[in-house]
Amino acid sequence: MSQVLEEVLLANQAYAENFDKGQLAIPPARRFTILTCMDARLDPAKFAGLVEGDAHIIRNAGGRASDDAIRSLVISYKLLGTREWFVIHHSDCGMETFTDQTIRNLLANSLKTAKLDENGWHDIGEGSGSTEGEFIDWLTIDDQAKSVYADVKRIRFHRLVPREISIYGYIYDVKTGKLIEVPEATEIGKAS
Ligand code: ZN
Repeated sequence: MSQVLEEVLLANQAYAENFDKGQLAIPPARRFTILTCMDARLDPAKFAGLVEGDAHIIRNAGGRASDDAIRSLVISYKLLGTREWFVIHHSDCGMETFTDQTIRNLLANSLKTAKLDENGWHDIGEGSGSTEGEFIDWLTIDDQAKSVYADVKRIRFHRLVPREISIYGYIYDVKTGKLIEVPEATEIGKAS
């Protein structure tokens, strides 16, 4: 058994031993949702003070308002009653380190893990790769405040999202653990 697999199963055994959350309802009790990056340094339960059953957390690379994130947001309000949504990107995000063309080239060259150094990303493993990466919009990020604004705006004006939902835009600072508002995003995301 891999070390990770063993550790996860052991941790779960300990968690389940004192588990007392078996009676929670499906709808999140505090009726809100966080869309954020999958970055391992971000722990929304800790930085936003959540316990099991409180809120929906939707995560992807960058915390972007992709079609699939919007699918989850629509289910979040339409079937499960959330009323407030946070879009939270973060400082030092990996999505700022490459462009669509960078990852497409890397993937076309090799499927092994690439390496980032002062000259950017490059492949260190052997081929062969695949050109399937050409068909994916990787939703990379130039500027966190701009990406938060763009995503809040896309969600705000999506035809399946009702006006009464409040959408807030924030950047999580990985150095301090603080949430910093992107005021223009929150402004465009406000309910009406
Ligand atoms: Zn990130």
